[in-house]
Amino acid sequence: MNALRPLPTFPAKLDQPTDVIVDRASAGPRYTSYPPATQFRPSFGPAEAAAALAAIPAGEPLSLYAHVPFCSQLCWYCGCNVTATRDRSRGTGYVDTLIRELDLVAAALGARAPVVELALGGGSPNFLHVADLARVLDAIRARFDLTADAELGIELDPRDTRAEQIDAVAELGFTRLSVGVQDFDPAVQETIHRIQTVAQTRAVVERARLQGFRSINVDLVYGLPGQTPEGVGRTIDEVIALAPDRLAVFGYAHMPHLRPHQKLVERNAPVPDLTARVELLRVVMDRLADAGYVRVGLDHFARPDDPLVAAAATGRLGRNFQGYVVRRASRLLGVGASAISDAGTAYWQDEVDVAEWTRLVEAGTLPVVRGVAVDADDQVRRFIINRLMCDGRLDLADVQTHHGVDVATTYAAELDRLERDHGDLVVVDRARGTLAATPLGHHLIRNICSVFDRYHRDGAGGSPTI
Ligand code: SF4
Repeated sequence: MNALRPLPTFPAKLDQPTDVIVDRASAGPRYTSYPPATQFRPSFGPAEAAAALAAIPAGEPLSLYAHVPFCSQLCWYCGCNVTATRDRSRGTGYVDTLIRELDLVAAALGARAPVVELALGGGSPNFLHVADLARVLDAIRARFDLTADAELGIELDPRDTRAEQIDAVAELGFTRLSVGVQDFDPAVQETIHRIQTVAQTRAVVERARLQGFRSINVDLVYGLPGQTPEGVGRTIDEVIALAPDRLAVFGYAHMPHLRPHQKLVERNAPVPDLTARVELLRVVMDRLADAGYVRVGLDHFARPDDPLVAAAATGRLGRNFQGYVVRRASRLLGVGASAISDAGTAYWQDEVDVAEWTRLVEAGTLPVVRGVAVDADDQVRRFIINRLMCDGRLDLADVQTHHGVDVATTYAAELDRLERDHGDLVVVDRARGTLAATPLGHHLIRNICSVFDRYHRDGAGGSPTI
């Protein structure tokens, strides 16, 4: 067991000068996977994914993620793989194919697997008719052992969710809800083409509570054009009044070369620069801390009694494509167009284009179009990066316990580099066998992780960001 437990949480407030953070910010992955998705290659396809699925030990608990790629309109800041359409009948055919993909995954696994966690995300799962959502659940129950204590979570778009849908989703067994807010400032909402009132959001949150949802998460975004510290402060106050159990606060990723529609957000105001982003984040963190929320990892916040906080304090926090989670399973299988899977020994992504994804599945092929095998060295690096991202520190003995690797010798060059280049961010205590982020290093934890990332090149990967 880690000698450093219980773990302190990441600093609640952005307790560092803006110029210092700006100076030390870097470009690079947010390590929701390692190797990062930029390392996925088309040479990894259905055969490799099938082999990785077959290699999962029988009885190993799984997390399942089902992606619903439809939204009734496109938010201009959106970085997800999404199809904007008002034709809800498309959802029924999509679910037919999703069920066929579940068949393919179950067949490749070879034995009925326990599922301890199910998440429906998108896009907007509420785009689906309730009957189609029920078919997804029935299909999962028919092919997997959804355990009695399995956690079922769903994303719902407050602009587009009726009370009856919430009631039906609760009836299906969902108890965790995530809603996007991003920003309540009307001017910002106009800029990002996402008009969503506080009243709409409150109606969904209150209905969900009434229906017994145990956990409600709100997503916020900082770094959007038109955001000001005052406006963001008002948004945070309004969100705090909704009393969500958790918040995920993401920095806006402006990538118009990859998502051309994002150019539209620049029509009214420029994208804030790094200094402005830091000031926006500072407001978010100050207000949440003052309201009693506990920071979990880099970008999540939770009420003190939330299981995420307990997990963070006891080294049971995990990180996957959905962000920070209470670690219940070490493998996450994704189905649906663009979904990403983590089978432990490999990551892969499904075809993004819905028509092509449908064609592949209907042809009886796992619709995998890119991925990467995780070799033994990368499995150790992933363990190190995960613990740093989750705990802000690492006990080198834990690496020995889990992987039989002596970090001090195998990764001596990385330790040397941390001491040489990142002494302001991390304390390398060779006598105790620990790495511990400094207060500044917690805010820039990705810089520390990138030293263990063998694909990372300093200066590559775009502009520095936080
Ligand atoms: S609701 Fe979410 S997934 Fe859909 S377009 Fe807006 S940001 Fe993208």
